Amino acid sequence: MKKLATLFMIVVLATLTAKIALAGDTLADAKKKGVLVVGCKDSLPPFGYIDEKSRQIVGYDIDFVNAIAKKMGVKVELKPVTSASRMPQLQEGHIDIIAATMTKNPERAKVIDFSHTYFFTGQKFITKKGTVKSLKDLEGKKIGTAKGSTSEQNVKKAIPSATVLSFDDYPQAFLALQQGKVSAVTTDEAILAGILAKAPNKAQFEIPTLQISDEPYGLGMRKGDTNFVNFVNKTILEMEKSGEAAKIFEKWFGPNTQFHLSRTFKITADK
Ligand code: GLU
Repeated sequence: MKKLATLFMIVVLATLTAKIALAGDTLADAKKKGVLVVGCKDSLPPFGYIDEKSRQIVGYDIDFVNAIAKKMGVKVELKPVTSASRMPQLQEGHIDIIAATMTKNPERAKVIDFSHTYFFTGQKFITKKGTVKSLKDLEGKKIGTAKGSTSEQNVKKAIPSATVLSFDDYPQAFLALQQGKVSAVTTDEAILAGILAKAPNKAQFEIPTLQISDEPYGLGMRKGDTNFVNFVNKTILEMEKSGEAAKIFEKWFGPNTQFHLSRTFKITADK
């Protein structure tokens, strides 16, 4: 028994050491390779989606990592991730940074490190027009969202009687709403606004003013990748100061786009 326990401890220690070793120094490594590998969304306008004309992934998240990579003097390689796959992809070293509509929370911060908040939104619902006035109207109903998201956790807590159907991504959940298979889709308002803006039959749907959480977005990096985290934080604070962050916000959410949000926060250093 004692021998088994010792063996177990050795395995645990070896695994931990391997994980720490993997954290490495992304800033130095990416500079050496000349490329920063970014995990992003590819079907969530305006954060990360395929531009119809250029066939490239573009968006708010992409503009932030492009600015960071430019400062490093490296190219960006974009790798699409889902809400469920982004943390394992980072930990296993397949990507160097997550820029994928990711909420910072204490649970996730045990596993990875986050930058200062670079976007702020809150969780809401898309429903058929006129069907939902309060959370009561969703009790006992089927609600669609994405696997591995905070949206999935929050809605289960906010409406325990609902049946939550978790899809790989939000466009699939919205398809289920269009087909009448769910009564609502829930996630961050900024994502819902992007889905609705692009929907051909948008007049049939709405985003009621029901918010169930705050969702501050952070760029995700490997735990203990301190040089890189500091560099990213310094860069995004500089972007706020120079007006570049506001420019990116205006480009994707300002009055002249289809996504329309008002700028409600500034990038500041976390305490
Ligand atoms: N921001 C939320 C999250 O990180 C929902 C959006 C997403 O799934 O990416 O889970």
